[in-house]
Amino acid sequence: MKACVLYAPRNLVVKDRPIPEPAQGEVLCRITLAGTCGTDYSLYSGKFDVPLPVIPGHEGIGVVEKLGPGVTDVSIGQRVVIQPNFPCRECVLCSSGLDNVCSDKVRLGLDTDGVFAEYTRVPANYVWSIPDGLEDKVAVFTEPVAVAVHGLRVMPAAEGDRVLILGAGVIGLLTLQLAVLAGAQVTASDLLDERLAIAANTGASHTARADEEGGLEPSSFDLIYETSGAPGALADAIELATPGGRIALLGLPADEHPVSTTQIVRKELRIAGSMIYTDEFPYVLDLLSAGKIDTAPLTTGITGLDGVGEALEMFHSPDRVKVLVSI
Ligand SMILES: [Zn+2]
Ligand SMILES: [Zn+2]
Repeated sequence: MKACVLYAPRNLVVKDRPIPEPAQGEVLCRITLAGTCGTDYSLYSGKFDVPLPVIPGHEGIGVVEKLGPGVTDVSIGQRVVIQPNFPCRECVLCSSGLDNVCSDKVRLGLDTDGVFAEYTRVPANYVWSIPDGLEDKVAVFTEPVAVAVHGLRVMPAAEGDRVLILGAGVIGLLTLQLAVLAGAQVTASDLLDERLAIAANTGASHTARADEEGGLEPSSFDLIYETSGAPGALADAIELATPGGRIALLGLPADEHPVSTTQIVRKELRIAGSMIYTDEFPYVLDLLSAGKIDTAPLTTGITGLDGVGEALEMFHSPDRVKVLVSI
C-alpha cells in the first residue's frame, strides 16, 4: 500500500508499505478520505516526543476491508469513521467515563500508524458506522466536531448567552456553530481576517482581531471558549469574562503563561479544561446527518497522499482552515 511515512521532523515520504494485518479485536480499514489538523502539524514539525518512523493522520473515514479474530459486530464493506484515541478501558478513569484522560491511551497517527495511508488497522470498538446519505466530505469532520461538542458538554451554552470564541481555527469555528445552535449570541476573535470572515458567514454576530487593542469590552462575556492555545489566551479570557462567567479551555498552549488568580476569585469565574471527547461520536454523526453543521466553509483544500507534506508545510497560511486528503 501507499503510505506517508514520517522519518524525522519535516521528512515525510510517500512509501510502499505492507498492508497491515488486523489483530485480535481489530479491523482493517481502507481509508478513503482524511483530514489534516494541528496535531499532525505538531508531529510533523517535531513537537511530539513519539518514536519515528510513524504514519501520521488521525481524522479518517473509510471502508472495513477485513476483520481480525473475534470481531463480530462490524461487517466487511461497512462505511466507517475512526475514533482515533484508544483508551485502555480498564483503569479507574476509563471505568468512570473519563477515558479521554486515560494515561494509557493509544493515539492513532502518533503512537501507532495513522490514516495518511491506503489502509490502517484499528480496534473494532473505535469504528462507527456512517449513516447512509451522510457524505464523506462531511463525515470526515466527525472527530473535530466531537472535540467541539465535548467543549459544549463541559460548559454548555444557553439561549441568550453572550459567548466569545477565542481562535477561529477548525475547533473554534465548529464551537461557534454549536453555540449559535444553542441560541447564544456569539463573538469570534482571531489574528486572521480570513478566518473572521468565515466566522461571520457561519453565525458570529461580531468578530474582532485578537491583536487589536480595545476591540472587546472587559467583563462582557458570560461564556468563553478558548480554542486558540495561545499562551496568553486564558489571561485574556479572565479579563473578558463577566463576574460569574465561565471559561472552557479546548486549546493546548505550547507554553505556560501567568494569569490573575485574584480576578478569578473576585469575579467567581468557573474555568474548566476540555480534552478531546469520550462517547460523543454517535451523537456527532446524528448532528452531521441532520445537516446541523456546515463544514463546507471550513474545507479549504483537497490533496492526495503525495500532497500531505506540502499541506503540512503550508499549515499556517492565512487562507487555510482544513485541507482534506483523498486516498
Ligand atoms: Zn485532529
Ligand atoms: Zn484507561
